[in-house]
Amino acid sequence: MLKTSENTLDPDDWPSFRKQGHDMLDDMFNYLEQLREQPVWQGLSSEQREIFQQPLSNDPSNLGEVHATFMKTILPYAVGNTHPGFMGWVHGGGTPVGMLADMLAAGLNANVGGRDQAPIELEKQLLQWIKSLFSFPETANGLFVTGTSMANLISVLIARTACLEKSIRKEGLVNSGLQLVAYTSESAHISIAQAMDIAGIGSNALRMIPINENYQMDVAALAKSIGADKKSGLTPFFIAATVGTVDVGAIDPLPAIADLAQLENLWFHVDGAYGALAILAPDLAPRLQGIERADSIAFDFHKWGQVPYDAGFILVRNGEQQLDTFSTPAAYLSRETRGLSAGSPWPCDLGPELSRGFRALKTWFTIKVYGPEKLGQVISNTCALAQYLKQRIELNPQLELLAPVELNIVCFRYRCLSPNFINAEIVIALQESGIVAPSTTTLHGQLAIRAAIVNHRITISDIDALIEATLAFGEVIENTLKSSLSQEKNE
Ligand SMILES: *Cc1c(COP(=O)(O)O)cnc(C)c1O
Repeated sequence: MLKTSENTLDPDDWPSFRKQGHDMLDDMFNYLEQLREQPVWQGLSSEQREIFQQPLSNDPSNLGEVHATFMKTILPYAVGNTHPGFMGWVHGGGTPVGMLADMLAAGLNANVGGRDQAPIELEKQLLQWIKSLFSFPETANGLFVTGTSMANLISVLIARTACLEKSIRKEGLVNSGLQLVAYTSESAHISIAQAMDIAGIGSNALRMIPINENYQMDVAALAKSIGADKKSGLTPFFIAATVGTVDVGAIDPLPAIADLAQLENLWFHVDGAYGALAILAPDLAPRLQGIERADSIAFDFHKWGQVPYDAGFILVRNGEQQLDTFSTPAAYLSRETRGLSAGSPWPCDLGPELSRGFRALKTWFTIKVYGPEKLGQVISNTCALAQYLKQRIELNPQLELLAPVELNIVCFRYRCLSPNFINAEIVIALQESGIVAPSTTTLHGQLAIRAAIVNHRITISDIDALIEATLAFGEVIENTLKSSLSQEKNE
């Protein structure tokens, strides 16, 4: 005898489930409201790691108990990118609004791969807004994806198909008889090379063009490299410029690269993972001039846009080319003009994924609730804080700026003996202190303390804390090193 009530996963006591759910929500509000009182980051002890090594058990647990375990063993030991002291890598801070929207999306459990549904209409509305932000034509297309790594891959695939004709999808690269080559700068994100690898073209076919003193792609060197490859019988097809390089936040000279791409008939892609959303800030947008000429733009809402992870986007000027690259006929995905199977083309025709979550909802809520102007102000403010940090570094003889501050990333170091060793130690000490969490990068062989001001919660006091703690740890670490060196000498 089938007993449906025993086989559903819904609660049989909704009132107590509801109470538990409200408690969980309150715990997250408390977490976000009291972030400052917690350390940015703390490492897990080996006992704490062991909690996650228990074998799979058949016994069900009470929801409240599992939640209590989350509060105790997971929540305090995350990366800390919600915290105002977090300045490592380029991580967004998220917002309470985005969190609530993600809860609604999870409740709705929409599969946004296709079919006739309002969530897809909402994605299309966002696409319209994004097109207008970047002054793209009506015929452009686009897709929400996990992040810019996926968006960069999609752009390489579209450019490949556009260059070699649609038959490449069946025949594969080997039968084209052509050796495709692509170009990006030495400062480009690793995901561009990875995209070349995954696309089967090979990362060796990606030319890493040198950068100038401002960490921007050297366009003369780019032109030379394209010329040399053509002379050798290779087929240049793709240029990826960056808006907001990972190292220092540089913006490649977009108009000059666009001109060259047009002249050579190459695909002009912009990796604007975090930087493209500077388009929302009236004081920064002029620096992105030329982005409107791109064939494709990859960017993330989860970085400067503060939308909770994950929310990336690929925008493509020629929408047909995106369809040509990904649409695939399948009987179970056949389309109608009425009913659930209406509304073709579907998002699954625009990228490699069929089932997709409703990440557009948290993006839509973020834009609707805060408004684009406010989001632009937040972005501007992070750049102003970076300038403040730069000034504090320049005023302190113990500190040294290591790169120009174009946007919101500041690379500097503590001046000392063995600076690469000591600055790496300083960054670990800062992270372990729980006060602030910058990361490191290496510029011209010099290890830099890299502070990326992305999180909207960062204030001047957090910048001050970074400076004070860097100076304090620097002094202690340098003295320890000096005394151990002199001890060695005496021994
Ligand atoms: C972060 C970043 C990426 C990768 O984006 P994900 O969203 O992490 O996949 C690519 N390019 C640049 C310039 C980035 O800053």
